[in-house]
Amino acid sequence: MSDSVADSIEMAAAGSVVVELITVIKANRQYLSEVDGAIGDGDHGINMSKGFSQCGERLAQRGELPSLPDALADLSEALMEGIGGSMGPLYGSFFLDMSEVLSKHALLDKHLFHRALVSGIDAVQTIGDAKVGDKTLIDTLDPARAAYEKALDHDDSFRACLSAMIAGAEAGMNSTRELRARVGRASRLGDRSIGVLDAGACSCFLILRSMGETLTLLLAGGAGGAGGTGAGERQQTEEQRG
Ligand SMILES: [Mg+2]
Repeated sequence: MSDSVADSIEMAAAGSVVVELITVIKANRQYLSEVDGAIGDGDHGINMSKGFSQCGERLAQRGELPSLPDALADLSEALMEGIGGSMGPLYGSFFLDMSEVLSKHALLDKHLFHRALVSGIDAVQTIGDAKVGDKTLIDTLDPARAAYEKALDHDDSFRACLSAMIAGAEAGMNSTRELRARVGRASRLGDRSIGVLDAGACSCFLILRSMGETLTLLLAGGAGGAGGTGAGERQQTEEQRG
């Protein structure tokens, strides 16, 4: 590679991925509830923000920021306990399965992240009964995975794979606008569910974009860094997001 971007990230120094997820979900509390309010009960942002905030409290109690797999396990527990309805178990399982795949590895590279992503999505599909096209978070997850895999098959860099994943997730989220809800509360609305985004698909996009962006920043910092890939780069992420 001609630039200094690394191919892998130190797992121990990547807990900031979860810190950034918390920031993003809390910042989008109102937006997610507004999206949910169009065809649901309007509580998605409140619920997600509550669960992610509880994870923030767990991380604060630890004192030192844990490794990425440990931080993801904390997030999973907080979501399982803190969010009612279907989203707690769905996202809780997503992050738990990612955590399990990543644990016991010192370095995160594009192949390991792929395995974690696939495992997390499989967990969501095992728990939920949604398929692609049902207007759920699966419509974000599936194209995100497909885009990541396509980049991986081309032997693109980790950074390029993450960029592809974000683009796939965004396209998938936007695809839910024209879909008719077939599972969950919104399915009772029938054709009236067409024309608005699915709230779970939106939160899922925010999650995948945040993960992809933070990992990209960590790659730019280099896997051999002194673990000082924290506050400054997180701040940069927030500024970029505007
Ligand atoms: Mg709701």
